[in-house]
Amino acid sequence: MKDDCIFCKIANHVIESDYVYEDDLVAAFRDMSPAAPTHVLVVPKEHYAHMADNVPGETIAAMAHAVDEIAKAEGIQESGFRVVANSGPDAGQVVHHLHWHVLGGKRLVDDFA
Ligand code: AMP
Ligand code: ZN
Repeated sequence: MKDDCIFCKIANHVIESDYVYEDDLVAAFRDMSPAAPTHVLVVPKEHYAHMADNVPGETIAAMAHAVDEIAKAEGIQESGFRVVANSGPDAGQVVHHLHWHVLGGKRLVDDFA
């Protein structure tokens, strides 16, 4: 865990949040500034900066499983959703702990998170 990292703290319950899914490798919680009716962040419990930080396949698989569980629980499996991983400056990444945005519950075709 990186001591100055907010998502390390949330993923490991040092700071509590509005969790929607959790297992040994990942936690998922609601974004504090939702851009859609469903806006959940999926984060690994270990610290990785972004998608190009040698993230183990096991962790990516756990994140993908979390997306599956969240889509079903949020009722957006059929209506559709978007998964976004902002990575680095040109993507506007603000929190430098790997996270996938899961956005759904409205039509997303004309906007982008
Ligand atoms: P980005 O790094 O640009 O992919 O986005 C970071 C996202 O994290 C933004 O959508 C923020 O609203 C969200 N965020 C930042 N801090 C928190 C927090 N403490 N709890 C929940 N969401 C957060
Ligand atoms: Zn972290």
